Amino acid sequence: MRDFSGDHRWLSVNTATVRRQGNLAAIIDACARHGIRAVSPWRDQVAAIGLERAVRALRDAGLELSGYCRGGMFPADAERRAEVRDDNRRAVDEAAALGAPCLVLVVGGLPQFSRPGCRPDKDLGAARARVEDGIAELLEYARGARMPLAIEPLHPMYAADRACVNTLRHALDLCDRLDPDGGGALGVAVDAYHVWWDDDLDAQIARAGRRRLLAFHVCDWLVPTTDLLNDRGMMGDGVIDLPRLRARVEAAGFAGFAEVEIFSERWWALPMDEVLATCIGRHRTAV
Ligand code: ZN
Repeated sequence: MRDFSGDHRWLSVNTATVRRQGNLAAIIDACARHGIRAVSPWRDQVAAIGLERAVRALRDAGLELSGYCRGGMFPADAERRAEVRDDNRRAVDEAAALGAPCLVLVVGGLPQFSRPGCRPDKDLGAARARVEDGIAELLEYARGARMPLAIEPLHPMYAADRACVNTLRHALDLCDRLDPDGGGALGVAVDAYHVWWDDDLDAQIARAGRRRLLAFHVCDWLVPTTDLLNDRGMMGDGVIDLPRLRARVEAAGFAGFAEVEIFSERWWALPMDEVLATCIGRHRTAV
């Protein structure tokens, strides 16, 4: 296992962590000032400053990407599936332009939440089938663009509205069915917040191996958690044994960035420099 205590060369910042404190250009500047080598931006943040400016700002700051957030949200009414397909293809193209190592997929839940405006539907099985079809279709396009897709299983509390793939096992089953060769075109993003509770986690991380482990996201699980979406904890403030999880991921072959991804009203209320300095300190001591 790599020693993170002496520096933060393997720290990446998911830019949602400081999204309220400034636009993407300001976040890139701040990360560069703090000696952070990588970020993972969101599509809306890129769109807000323009793709070309984002590409230029990243290059000028010498920042790498650890991923691009996000594609997916596949379940939709039949008449809107072309729109979903095209939107996801644009996400692949943006990820390629930005030099991302993978496009993260949050696959969607029931249609009316995945794509607002769709008809209400309670058929989670149908949503999961639609997700599989959607990934299969996008994978062809992504292969052409040489952009790996990383399925991110989300905690089951998001099954209705964000992702009906909720375990690493389910995500890897999809990978094995859709990309049996395992050449790196399709894999998973392991986010500690979403998978830490799973009693099958160690086995599934080992099963994933180096070729499927495309991203590793960290934050912490607070007890109690007061908001389903925006109460993630800073590493070290909650109950996840992050060093143990990182040891498992690295033993399986992962050697990339540990990406800090915190959606939190508490951390959004603090100055960007303070949040980034805290991320660096906790990366050394709690990850
Ligand atoms: Zn994540």
